[in-house]
Amino acid sequence: MIFRSLASSSFGNAYVVEDAETRILLECGLTVKKLQRLSDFSLASFGACLVSHEHKDHAKSVGEIAARGVAVYMSPGTADALGLGGGVELVEHLEQFSVGTLDIVPFTTFHDAAEPLGFLVKSRIDGDVLAFATDTVNLRYKFPGLSILAVEANYDAQILERSERLPEKVRRRITNSHMEIGTLCEYLSQLDLSRCREIYLLHLSDAMSRENEFVRRVRAVVPKNITITVCDKEKK
Ligand SMILES: [Zn+2]
Repeated sequence: MIFRSLASSSFGNAYVVEDAETRILLECGLTVKKLQRLSDFSLASFGACLVSHEHKDHAKSVGEIAARGVAVYMSPGTADALGLGGGVELVEHLEQFSVGTLDIVPFTTFHDAAEPLGFLVKSRIDGDVLAFATDTVNLRYKFPGLSILAVEANYDAQILERSERLPEKVRRRITNSHMEIGTLCEYLSQLDLSRCREIYLLHLSDAMSRENEFVRRVRAVVPKNITITVCDKEKK
C-alpha cells in the first residue's frame, strides 16, 4: 500500500492511498482541478473519496466529486453539516465497508465538528494496514498490525503558551480540536509499531509547530526502522 500527501494544512487537505488494484482519495479540501494536477490522476481513477469531517479544508470539493460519479463516504453528521441530502455514502463508527480491494473501518475522532471520523484501511492484496487520523485532539484506538500511520501533529503547547497575543478564543479552539505533539508522542509510545514502516505527520500548524523538533520527538518514541515524513503544505 502506498500513502501520498497532496496537501496538508488548514488551507487544504488531500491524500492518496492505493494498493495494486484500488486507489482512493482521503479528504478533498482542494479544488478538483488542483487535486488532479497534484495527484497526476484523473478523478475517474479514484474508487472513492473518504471525508473525515465537514470543514472546508477537508471537504471543499465534495459536491463536485460526488456529482462526477466518485463514491464519497462520510458520517451522517458530516453529511448533514455539509447540507447534503443524498448522493453520498453514509458510514458509521466501527462499521466496516469495502472499496475494491480495500477494507475500511471508520472510527470516531475528537474535533469541533459534527461527527468526525478517522479511517483504518486494510489492503486485501498486500495485507498492509493504514490508520489515517487528522484534526483530532487525541486517539483512543491501538490499531494492531499497523504498516503506515498518517496522523495529525498540529502544534506545540510550549509555542502556544508563548504566543501571548493569540486571542483566548483561538487558543481554546486549537487546544480543543487539534493534536499536540506531546499528546501524539504519548500515544505513539503506547502503540505496538513492530510492523510499522512509515509515519506521516499531517496538518502542522504554520506558527505553532517546528518541523525538525517534531520529527526528533517522534523519532525518540518509535522503533528506529520507521521512516518519519512531515507532509508538506502542498506537494512540491
Ligand atoms: Zn477541521
